[in-house]
Amino acid sequence: MLVVMRHDATPADVERVCRTIVEMGYEARPLPGAQRTAVGLVGNDGRVDASRVAGLSGVAQVIHVTQPYKQVSREWRPENTVVTIAPGVSFGGREVPVIAGPCSVESEAQILAAAHAVRAAGAAALRGGAFKPRSSPYAFQGLGRRGLELLDLARRETGLAIVTEALDEEGAHLVAEVADCIQIGARNMQNYSLLRAVGRIGKPVLLKRGMSATITELLLSAEYVLAEGNTQVILCERGLRSFDPLTRNLLDLTAIPTVQRLSHLPIVADPSHGTGVRDKVTPMARAAVAAGADGVIVEVHPDPDRALSDGAQSLFPAQFAELVGELHTIAAAIGRELAAPPSPAGANGTSAALGTASAAIG
Ligand code: PEP
Ligand code: MN
Repeated sequence: MLVVMRHDATPADVERVCRTIVEMGYEARPLPGAQRTAVGLVGNDGRVDASRVAGLSGVAQVIHVTQPYKQVSREWRPENTVVTIAPGVSFGGREVPVIAGPCSVESEAQILAAAHAVRAAGAAALRGGAFKPRSSPYAFQGLGRRGLELLDLARRETGLAIVTEALDEEGAHLVAEVADCIQIGARNMQNYSLLRAVGRIGKPVLLKRGMSATITELLLSAEYVLAEGNTQVILCERGLRSFDPLTRNLLDLTAIPTVQRLSHLPIVADPSHGTGVRDKVTPMARAAVAAGADGVIVEVHPDPDRALSDGAQSLFPAQFAELVGELHTIAAAIGRELAAPPSPAGANGTSAALGTASAAIG
């Protein structure tokens, strides 16, 4: 439930509404906005009796949020949430940042080559997993802590923002020391304790849609993060499991306008996992930007044939550079603009201390 205040409501009016909500046994979230001030009622799993607050001084209107997700919905917040993961790298506004890099961090030479290549081509952020969720326990699991150190080095060298995955709660704290944005992978979309943990950590989160999750389930998962007080969530469409063996997944581009209608959170597209096939990545990345995606995340490897994971869907650097050129044109055609890569001055030696978290990981 949202309690919308009148324009002439005083701070004391807002305070009284908050107090009443707490007395009713719920949590009150004051939401000052450009258009209006509202107070959100958090903690209900059904319709709340609004009679106690509706008559209070300064109250203009009580809105019952009809969706099962509350804080994530556009009813709760009509204007877009813009998630800024690093200076100049924002999702949900006019600019469309490109996140690119290998599936996994494999070595210093590999991640630095990838970072320099994607930055030169126009990416604003570097992706690369240090902790990898692999279907087989015998497949490469990532370099762990060493991988995070290498990502930190790549950021210092290139200024690129870092997007990297956390697999569990303990790892999330370690990842948070380096990442500008913590990725929660498709397989973990419904790992509710991990979602709560990244909600409490408070860093921006890239939440991927599960491979068999509905859009409502994706939004409910995001609600777990917002319920902990972290509104910095970027959603990601990365393809659904389908019956067709010619592609790895079926990239659901309909999810982009659907989510944008239902939620104020930004949504990006991942055409790499969304297709699983290198020559399908470029067309679907173009289509995602045309469909209004607030960003794209693309796997690029300096030597895809030798990649330790997802080589078959990774672009060669030259293919990626060509794609970025095309995305500039497509973004401009719909009144948007690709985010510029960070200026060289952005490579300022921001160094994360990796000393404090558990050394048992990785
Ligand atoms: C990845 O980004 O490399 C990854 C494992 O993605 P997903 O969780 O979408 O499968
Ligand atoms: Mn991958």
